[in-house]
Amino acid sequence: MSPCLPPSSVAVVLGTRPELVKLAPLIHELGEATRLVHTGQHWDEAMSGRFLRDLGLPRPEVLTGVGGRPRAGQIAQSLGQLDAAFADDRPAAVVVQGDTNATLAGALAANARGIPLVHVEAGLRSFDRAMPEEHNRVMVDHVSDLLCAATAENAANLRAESLDERRIAVTGNTVVEVVRRRLPDPPARAALLARHGVAPDGYVLATVHRPENTDTAEALGAVLAELDRIARDGTPVLFPMHPRTRAAVERFALDGLLDRLAVTAPVGYAEFLGLARHAALLVSDSGGVQEECTVLGRPLLVVRRSTERPEAVDAGFAALVRPGAELGGLARSWLADRTERLARLAATPSPYGDGLASARIARLTAQLAVRPAAALAAA
Ligand code: UDP
Repeated sequence: MSPCLPPSSVAVVLGTRPELVKLAPLIHELGEATRLVHTGQHWDEAMSGRFLRDLGLPRPEVLTGVGGRPRAGQIAQSLGQLDAAFADDRPAAVVVQGDTNATLAGALAANARGIPLVHVEAGLRSFDRAMPEEHNRVMVDHVSDLLCAATAENAANLRAESLDERRIAVTGNTVVEVVRRRLPDPPARAALLARHGVAPDGYVLATVHRPENTDTAEALGAVLAELDRIARDGTPVLFPMHPRTRAAVERFALDGLLDRLAVTAPVGYAEFLGLARHAALLVSDSGGVQEECTVLGRPLLVVRRSTERPEAVDAGFAALVRPGAELGGLARSWLADRTERLARLAATPSPYGDGLASARIARLTAQLAVRPAAALAAA
């Protein structure tokens, strides 16, 4: 990578599972220049510890007292500690990714001290102001010095908000390389499917965790009832359950709808990819899964009222559905025509780029860190 950066000079601030996944290839590109800071927003073995290890990430500095607080408390608690850490040892650049509370806290901490800020996955827009993530990503984009847009559509969203063209770079999405590197090989995948008792193209893999699907008994009940119906109709449903969803199932006493589902705790990343690679159908409200399905060539029903990632829908991999009859109806129809659909998707390129996004972002970050003013003028 050129130009060279001193060790620990680029602070990469993150706090959740998807950030660990998508920043991993960039952290590897940055190598010893990385100073990894974890806000502790997700901080347990299943959602974080295992991901740090399995993705080969360096030991992070970990903030305290962040997880479990409401949004403003998480941001405030992280911001104060990040500011103190950056005052103590000023990084040459700060990198954040996506739209979480950790993303916003990292961005505000960099902005407060005038440290060049890189936003990975800039320019995503759901145009749904009911989602806190939409506010986080808009605010972060507007204070960033380098906006790494994954796609041309993302760059167009930034231009539509009058963001300076010189700050915008279309890089592709790091999801392409992380999926290619972490997907288990065919023998390991065969062993994985055997362990779960499922056959290739013969099961559904489902994840739900977003507030719109877990905050009310009606919404969560409607999702689970449709998954239950798919299982009753004879297609196994694997359901690695997010901690928020498990808590909601208990709160709303919906356990009865889980009886026919193969429920597990959240699984590790390689295991999730291996299972997703051979699923007849994915059902999810996750942001990351909307990207991963395009690299794996698998169909996805997105149980959400809006998405900031229209690319997977436009390319034919995904469709947005409401919980309940719409989810059930489309699931039955997509399972019925799976042979033709899977063949078509296998031949459809991912809209997320060529697998070189992290190398591009590392190069641009190094330029910004070494000569911030020159990097912007030359861009
Ligand atoms: N994932 C995983 N194990 C699971 C469920 C999901 O490794 O049991 C991965 C998934 O492949 C994706 C990421 O976790 O890369 C998505 O995280 P999440 O759904 O929590 O966040 P979002 O993408 O919605 O922001």
